Amino acid sequence: MEQLTGRLRSEHKTLVCMTKIYCEDHHGQHPGGLCGECAALMEYSAKRLAKCPYGEDKPTCANCPIHCYKQQQRELVREVMRYAGPRMPLRHPWRALTHVFDKLRRVVHPRELRRARNRDRQIKP
Ligand code: SF4
Ligand SMILES: [Zn+2]
Repeated sequence: MEQLTGRLRSEHKTLVCMTKIYCEDHHGQHPGGLCGECAALMEYSAKRLAKCPYGEDKPTCANCPIHCYKQQQRELVREVMRYAGPRMPLRHPWRALTHVFDKLRRVVHPRELRRARNRDRQIKP
């Protein structure tokens, strides 16, 4: 699994919690709480997060205008969130609350993101 830090790590943990809820109810009990397919999905999401162009300032993936996931994984995560989202406040109230605040973050347009990066590059000696 990719080594994530800060918000990226926390967001991935929230997604894993949600996927465990989904997996248990749809795919049964598995060691570590995830079946092979769901574990592969979490591996994939960790890789995407590690390469996220927004870094620590990322919006939630659901609100992201770039959306870097492939179609299949994107649909799977959407399904997981649709199912587990309403169940999160009961099982993981703190994580659910943090996710609500994350959703309120301003979404930076990719064009704005590129401009900021170019500015940073020009400033560097
Ligand atoms: S979907 Fe958007 S926010 Fe999520 S990892 Fe990909 S680029 Fe970053
Ligand atoms: Zn599963």
